[in-house]
Amino acid sequence: MAKVQTTRTGLPLDRKARLRIPPHHVTKQTPHDRIHNWDEVYYGYTAGPAMFEAQRCIQCPAAPCTKACPIDNDIPGALAFLEVGKLAEAAGVFRETSEMPELCGRLCPQEALCEGVCVVGKKAKPVAIGKLEAFLGDWDRGQRGGFPVPRPQQETGQRVAVVGSGPAGLAAAEALRGAGHRVTVFEAWPAGGGVLRYGIPNFKSAKDIVDEKIEALRAAGVEFRFETRVGRDVTWEELEGWDAVFLGHGAGAGKRLRLEGEGLAFVYSATEFLVRANLPAVELPASMGSRPEAEGKRVVVVGGGDTSMDCVRSAIRLGASEVTLLYRRSENEMQGRLEERMHAREEGVNFEYLTTPVQLLGKDGRVCGVECVRMTLGEPDESGRRRPIPQAGSEFVLDADTVVVAVGYDVGRELYEGSGIDVNDWGEVLVDEGGRTSRPGVFAGGDNVRGADLVVTALNGAHQAIPTMRGWLAERRAEGTLLAAG
Ligand code: SF4
Repeated sequence: MAKVQTTRTGLPLDRKARLRIPPHHVTKQTPHDRIHNWDEVYYGYTAGPAMFEAQRCIQCPAAPCTKACPIDNDIPGALAFLEVGKLAEAAGVFRETSEMPELCGRLCPQEALCEGVCVVGKKAKPVAIGKLEAFLGDWDRGQRGGFPVPRPQQETGQRVAVVGSGPAGLAAAEALRGAGHRVTVFEAWPAGGGVLRYGIPNFKSAKDIVDEKIEALRAAGVEFRFETRVGRDVTWEELEGWDAVFLGHGAGAGKRLRLEGEGLAFVYSATEFLVRANLPAVELPASMGSRPEAEGKRVVVVGGGDTSMDCVRSAIRLGASEVTLLYRRSENEMQGRLEERMHAREEGVNFEYLTTPVQLLGKDGRVCGVECVRMTLGEPDESGRRRPIPQAGSEFVLDADTVVVAVGYDVGRELYEGSGIDVNDWGEVLVDEGGRTSRPGVFAGGDNVRGADLVVTALNGAHQAIPTMRGWLAERRAEGTLLAAG
């Protein structure tokens, strides 16, 4: 008699029957409701529907979803627990490889990662891995009253500086504190979280998750020094006093259009627009005002990635009368998430594809319009996407009261001047496969190494550097012991 296949929790595994289970969708706010608030669009799963959705996982032995996950989350393992209601165990599986599954579950472009290769997705909707992961993370924090607090088994007495409190910095701080080191996090902004607080709007991810993460690290003994910029408030020489340094400050320097009129009033960088729209003044630098003036205004956003979608959707919530996105290629070449574009369209954003600005027009010192030109697409360029070519004679003017420039981010080379750390032309830190920079004892990972990318790839960058840092610190301890003995 053929042996009956079972899941890891001993449940009979009938893959054909599982493929017939209909998807259990999460509910979300209607476009009409959500444009009047800043709450998360999705309500998220509750336990019952989440367990049903988890049963759609056919537990492929090859687990392509795990291979496509930048941090190797054991997705079938977690879902095997979830489908039988072992929620703590399921959440624990995600927490083994991720410091913030509730955030990755909300923010990863799953269609290009785990869900994009889900075998169930070949015939039906892929298993809703991201939303299940977010549900488990939320449920787990709800049970514990916050994130798990790292508890070192013994203290090493060694001091580690972490530069930046975004995903990579928080992941490094958590692992290094868990290993018993004294960790200090330097953050240039007035509050912690980096891109999680200052880049991602509230309707995609509520800030209280970030607050809870920082609280858990504080409870573990991690020290946070806000409004402290390395290279200005703390010099590279002062950092010599630490046993190791991790650079995880991301890529926060907004690229510019380099067009005439960019210096006019009411022309914002994406970062400034998003932080002022999404955060209370107390969490902003004193130099930044309160909410950007957009109510009843015509807002034009330039760019084609997820940040530009965050800007147009924030403008809608600020009460703009008209919001237009300009993108120089067609929708096929857009790199952001389809879901984001769908949400933006539902919320009333106009999309002007194959259109690029050539100058920003002003009156009395403030922007009043954008001169644009239509584009056609030529042969693929070095990015692999078809090159946009201006169409002669297609210029036109779009009236605008506010313009937001959301054309990407650089790291910025200035930070590293005089640091002895090698960077490339874009300011990205050059590291080896273990995250070692050219300066001994200084390691790096995340967007400041690979350029602006995802939360989950930033975690992956930290994960690569952490074992190397721990090795370096162990060697220094051993040297110290030898010196003391000799
Ligand atoms: Fe998928 Fe991202 Fe979660 Fe990995 S971290 S399982 S890629 S949603």
